[in-house]
Amino acid sequence: MSSVPSHNGAAMTDGHGRRIDYLRLSVTDRCDLRCRYCMAEKMSFLPRSAVLSIEEMGDLAERFVARGVRRIRLTGGEPLVRRGIDALAMRIGALIGRGLDELTLTTNAMRLADHAPMLSAAGVRRVNVSLDTLEPAAFRHITRVGDVRTALDGIAAAQAAGLSVKINMVALAGLNEDQLLPMLDWCAARGCDLTLIETMPLGDVEGDRSAHYIPLHRFIAPLRAERAIFPVERRTGGPARYFGIEDSPVTLGLITPLSDNFCASCNRIRLTVEGRIYMCLGRDDHVDLRAALRGGGEGPVDELIDAALDRKPRAHDFVIQKRSRPAVARHMSATGG
Ligand code: SAM
Ligand code: SF4
Repeated sequence: MSSVPSHNGAAMTDGHGRRIDYLRLSVTDRCDLRCRYCMAEKMSFLPRSAVLSIEEMGDLAERFVARGVRRIRLTGGEPLVRRGIDALAMRIGALIGRGLDELTLTTNAMRLADHAPMLSAAGVRRVNVSLDTLEPAAFRHITRVGDVRTALDGIAAAQAAGLSVKINMVALAGLNEDQLLPMLDWCAARGCDLTLIETMPLGDVEGDRSAHYIPLHRFIAPLRAERAIFPVERRTGGPARYFGIEDSPVTLGLITPLSDNFCASCNRIRLTVEGRIYMCLGRDDHVDLRAALRGGGEGPVDELIDAALDRKPRAHDFVIQKRSRPAVARHMSATGG
């Protein structure tokens, strides 16, 4: 494929008339943590032969930008465990201003201290860091293996490198319900915004995930009891609704896929490290680009991208009930959160 994309400016539109200009690119399904709501303790990962090379991911990113994608988020698994991530970030970052508006990253911050200067040099200006608690014992319990100090050092290094940091916190009944107010104070002191996420039923995680599901309106009840919160306008095209908090500089995002479906404004598609486009996080339907990428080049890849756009569903169909099976067998770490 050509190394310099010809951006024709035409937006991609799906079969329901939604403009698709945001690509989540999962660069690995592997991770150095084992968060209980995301993975099983003993996960089997894809064999290396099944995953796209860094070069192939760069080619596809360029093709998507040529097709009208304006924002790319690198994710995983943990994107910073992927060997060659520096080269990929630099290559995609070089597209900023040439069709691409923004390159961002979602990370657990375990390796952020090492990579922050590189990300900044690649043109990344914002990162999302997943941090479900500040409490060392709770962090170890939720992630099974992690040390919260490593994450906090990573966040500090990112800010020192000039990156703005938003915190993502998954709401977990019985595991971090008491952590919302300390997390808000911590975010306020460091200039970070905070987004809360409901657990989604993706992949088997050992045990009953529904035991830790809590709708966000219940999770934020202690905050509402202390301070007023009020809606604020933010047009991101994403699933979060945003709120200001009385006497706090923090903007609070709420992502409620289960208690309040957000699909009408969905502007994204997801590309996995195997080269599959998933049109919806909550469904199995996908289009496989790998063979076309390896054998055909731009024409066949474009045809498959068009097929994926046509097949993007109107909405996910998550439900989470006691001891229910996951909505899809795929883990969030395989598709990219
Ligand atoms: N490893 C990186 C991280 O944790 O930020 C990036 C990938 S992770 C899959 C992306 C996001 O998905 C994280 O914010 C994580 O908390 C969230 N996540 C993972 N599994 C989830 C689930 N079953 N329900 C809701 N959010 C989930
Ligand atoms: Fe790894 Fe992110 Fe999943 Fe946690 S949420 S196990 S850090 S991929």
